[in-house]
Amino acid sequence: MLVATTAVDLAPFHGCALVPTMGALHDGHASLISRAAALGGVPVVATIFVNPTQFAPTEDFAAYPRTLSADLAMAERAGAQAVFVPSVETMYPAPSAANAAPGALSAHALAAREAASWPVPRVAIEPRLEDAFRPTHFGGVCQVVARLFDLTQPLHAFFGEKDYQQLRVLTSMVEDAPGRWPGLAVHGAPTVREPDGLAMSSRNRYLRPEQRVQALGLIHALRLAESEPDPSAAEAAMHRTLHEHGLRVDYAVVRDARTLEPVTDRSRPTRALIAARLDTVRLIDNLALSVL
Ligand code: AMP
Repeated sequence: MLVATTAVDLAPFHGCALVPTMGALHDGHASLISRAAALGGVPVVATIFVNPTQFAPTEDFAAYPRTLSADLAMAERAGAQAVFVPSVETMYPAPSAANAAPGALSAHALAAREAASWPVPRVAIEPRLEDAFRPTHFGGVCQVVARLFDLTQPLHAFFGEKDYQQLRVLTSMVEDAPGRWPGLAVHGAPTVREPDGLAMSSRNRYLRPEQRVQALGLIHALRLAESEPDPSAAEAAMHRTLHEHGLRVDYAVVRDARTLEPVTDRSRPTRALIAARLDTVRLIDNLALSVL
């Protein structure tokens, strides 16, 4: 397996199946790589880049877990032919020295400024879900994924349903730019869970033992939503369950599974989505609901 760090290293992998990640890999990430490998006939490239532009200044960018050697071993076991581990400068090249003014901003600072005004699809700004709580997040996500697509020219890209609004945002980004990444298909993959139902996440390692138990409130709430007769009953049941587990709720809603807008047509697929906090740890999860 090749560990690539530059655009030139990636040239032989154009047409790949791409799996973007921020590292600290777990079985959820491995499942995306395995799905990409199962396509057959296309090289699989995983990427590991803790993207500074999708973190707000108050978030955990500096503390985000970095476990590169274990990640490389896991990616190889799951079937990656290459792992791209770029620097900030490779992802966000600063203007050439000739054009840069004296005292010019760093590559990181320039990229962050650019991310703030990056064009994003409607589903990144209208649902008032992650977009309401992390207003600069999807600008940074679209910026970094567009750059990864440009560098790897993939035919397939895999994202987890775990980050459901992100999956919808990136699917829309590709649909809204026909011809920019020719032939690219975006694949969503089901959430991989711990045996007790907690969605795997690189951030679960921040949970203290008692919080690890409380965190099960998310999956309990989502499963309860499945048994309720309509969206508002499902939302009330989710709020109740999350509060019973001592979780602070950012949102617990049932939405149209495609637009993530409130449900108006109950014959269309719906999704229950939760974001909730235990002290400083913010957890998200979601579940497809059978037609209510
Ligand atoms: P991250 O490294 O957290 O940015 O995640 C990289 C990719 O892995 C994203 O497409 C996530 O949605 C996906 N992912 C994260 N956790 C899981 C999980 N538990 N099951 C499936 N995919 C996941």
